[in-house]
Amino acid sequence: MAYIEPAPIKDKDNPFESMMSRFHIAAQHLGLDDEVYNVLKSPVKQVITSLPVTMDDGSIRVFEGYRVIHSNILGPSKGGVRYDMDVNLDEVKALAAWMTWKCAVVDIPYGGAKGGIKCNPREMSAGEIERLTRSYTQAMYEIFGPDRDIPAPDMGTGPREMAWMMDQYSRSQGMTVNAVVTGKPLVLGGSLGRTEATGRGVMISTLAGMEKLRINPFKATCAIQGFGNVGSWAALLLEERGVTITAVSDLSGAYYNEEGINIAEANTYRQENGGHLEGFEGAEKIDPDELLLLDVDVLVPAAIEDVITKENADKIKAKLIVEGANGPTSAKADAIINDKGIMAVPDILANAGGVTVSYFEWVQNRLGYKWTAERVNRRSDRIMRDAFNKVYKASQEYNVSLRIAAYIVAIDKVAKTYKYRGGF
Ligand code: GLU
Repeated sequence: MAYIEPAPIKDKDNPFESMMSRFHIAAQHLGLDDEVYNVLKSPVKQVITSLPVTMDDGSIRVFEGYRVIHSNILGPSKGGVRYDMDVNLDEVKALAAWMTWKCAVVDIPYGGAKGGIKCNPREMSAGEIERLTRSYTQAMYEIFGPDRDIPAPDMGTGPREMAWMMDQYSRSQGMTVNAVVTGKPLVLGGSLGRTEATGRGVMISTLAGMEKLRINPFKATCAIQGFGNVGSWAALLLEERGVTITAVSDLSGAYYNEEGINIAEANTYRQENGGHLEGFEGAEKIDPDELLLLDVDVLVPAAIEDVITKENADKIKAKLIVEGANGPTSAKADAIINDKGIMAVPDILANAGGVTVSYFEWVQNRLGYKWTAERVNRRSDRIMRDAFNKVYKASQEYNVSLRIAAYIVAIDKVAKTYKYRGGF
């Protein structure tokens, strides 16, 4: 009989506490009512479910699945589903709250949610992942819904899993409901531009940050941690706009080339070599911890939480940090980053391009219409730029970092919605 190994306890900050400490600071700046503060500090709903799955060898394994709805006051809740061995309730709670703030920052009509399954998809067959995904969707069929809660991809999931979720949910309803999930393959009602949307938003945020700092993209260097969907697209799109990408990393290690890595080549290599860069000859291998500390203009953490911590923040040399990942900077590192005068474009702004195009996908599904890639990109670029400018303005008005300003913008919108709707 196979049991699931408990995830190793990492010596890292609790992501929910990290989220709450920023929420608390922003709430104080806003003079948020105690009532609204108390409502927003706890999720609306937290579901934990056991998912028995028949494995290929005939054994049955029980996985743990989560879905946390942090808020649905602004509309149906929205957020991805993560497949990873580190998934736990505190992490999903933090990620769900971040989705509330993220959707509010870019001003799309959604609340925030997040889901996850504690599993290692790299060690599972496609059939096992499909059965697990269907089992999860079935367990959540009363939670999900195009007007209730709309899942999407996150770490360890992609269009393939979204197709299974859409199909399983549709079976439970006896009709095709494609607006129940976003990030689907194009033929199932996915949107053009969704795959690259998060990386594209990171690119827009980076250029906006560079403009404020008067960094010329054609003379700028950039290191990117994480070469998955977010990091690889951000790298490619920044390179297209003249930025020299001197370092990238993935699970196989970190790769450095002073002259700039050819991102198209790295992408092709990754696709042809099992999804990672091991053996890539266009760069030399360096210590992955060093990547964050390289002497570059821009640092894009686009992998996981808590990589910029109070231990390494002081050694960062970049002038601009753009958070492609959710929660890459621990709350304890914020003050160090600020004291060093580094501009950090926070996750809830920088990586909001993904959920923005998810919103467009949902709109198109409901319209029964398909937009061109050009329309999707133009509209999402505009939303990202407007959001950046709004947050930048708030940071000057309240004399706070971009991170706290983003929370202020988001919490203000959610708080106003509570004021108008009332009803406690
Ligand atoms: N998982 C992505 C995020 O963290 C996308 C969520 C969505 O599209 O709903 O923003």
